[in-house]
Amino acid sequence: MALKEKDPEVFSLIEKELQRQRDMVALIASENYAPEEVLEATGSVLTNKYSEGYPGKRYYAGNEFIDQIETIAIERAKKLFGMPCANVQAHSGSSANFEAYRAIMEDGDTFMGMRLDQGGHLTHGSPVNFSGQIYKVVSYSVEQDTEVIDYDKLMEQAKEAKPKMIVCGYTAYPRTVEFGKFREIADACGASLLCDISHIAGLIAGGAHMPAGPYADVITTTTHKSLRGPRGAIILAKEELCKAVNKGVFPGSQGGPLEHVIAAKAVCFQNAMQPEFKEYAAQIVKNAKALAKAINDHGFRLVSGGTDNHLILVDVKSKGINGKVAQDSLELAGIICNRNTIPYDTEKPFIGSGIRLGTPAVTTRGMKEAEMKEIADLFAKALENTENEDALSKVRAEAKQLMDKFPLYPNL
Ligand SMILES: *Cc1c(COP(=O)(O)O)cnc(C)c1O
Repeated sequence: MALKEKDPEVFSLIEKELQRQRDMVALIASENYAPEEVLEATGSVLTNKYSEGYPGKRYYAGNEFIDQIETIAIERAKKLFGMPCANVQAHSGSSANFEAYRAIMEDGDTFMGMRLDQGGHLTHGSPVNFSGQIYKVVSYSVEQDTEVIDYDKLMEQAKEAKPKMIVCGYTAYPRTVEFGKFREIADACGASLLCDISHIAGLIAGGAHMPAGPYADVITTTTHKSLRGPRGAIILAKEELCKAVNKGVFPGSQGGPLEHVIAAKAVCFQNAMQPEFKEYAAQIVKNAKALAKAINDHGFRLVSGGTDNHLILVDVKSKGINGKVAQDSLELAGIICNRNTIPYDTEKPFIGSGIRLGTPAVTTRGMKEAEMKEIADLFAKALENTENEDALSKVRAEAKQLMDKFPLYPNL
């Protein structure tokens, strides 16, 4: 109520954004709809408090309740991902990686990460990112024919490169990440293993992807993707790296923690431990497989031939369209997704030959396999009509009709 009165300009834009989220098909693989209890914690008075330090060791007074909240978040995170130590203060996935890398490596050390244009994240060694500037990077790739990782080849490459750390876990890899194989490779070359599970954390929490906990030295993850929490991240570590990780976060790179977001992370972890979350995670994968099949049935080639997880990489060049045109046409048709390079892409990264799709958000809306088929039909119709604005706005109306059957935030 206060916002509407005090700042109608910002208020009305938030209202418009809410309506946009209700009307459009959200297929960005890294997005989700946080439940109301998460929004409530994020919008709470905890935003007022300075809490530099950790529970029981703060620099400012007045942290009696904040300490209890952060401790709950820490305990739940450890339990959820099966790691002995958790830091819940990281502001974002990129900050979490910065902080975790500092805990494991010295400046100038060598690490291995997947190439950005093949599904790795910017923080996995891109030259325009701190990770590619502070450290020596040996990138690994997927195979050109299969578009998946060849673990035997990776073993050979790692033995030769002798990295201090290997990063696995990606932003655009539709297949299972074999953490056990990565552990063997890391052991064979004396490296630490960092599992960046940002995209698949919800699947892991819900038992729909193999866990990283038994294999990782350090796990980093965002909390706002498939895990369906507030925008932010956490770092989990083995006991011997605990101190270094905590120091890396504060005072190493951050000041005061965002305790309102930490409270929302605690709520999110609690949700992810419930039996319904297991069903949710399983349905995300079922929906991705159904969407993949239906899109493939429309004649689009899928990178690696399909999906094991929540995401699909569609090679739209297989239909003669580039990623940029596809993304823009889909947006006009009410389908929100992002263009992406595909492995060994011949287009520039800004254009790309692929479209990345994910099912965490539409699954949160309550959609199942039947709706995935409908979405695939809308997707194909939009891409058959990239030049026809009338046709695209018709698809947009159909998309809205479908979304209206699955109300979003009815209480807001
Ligand atoms: C999203 C993502 C990140 C970065 O998260 P931000 O919160 O956007 O900084 C890091 N690594 C992977 C694998 C991701 O998918």
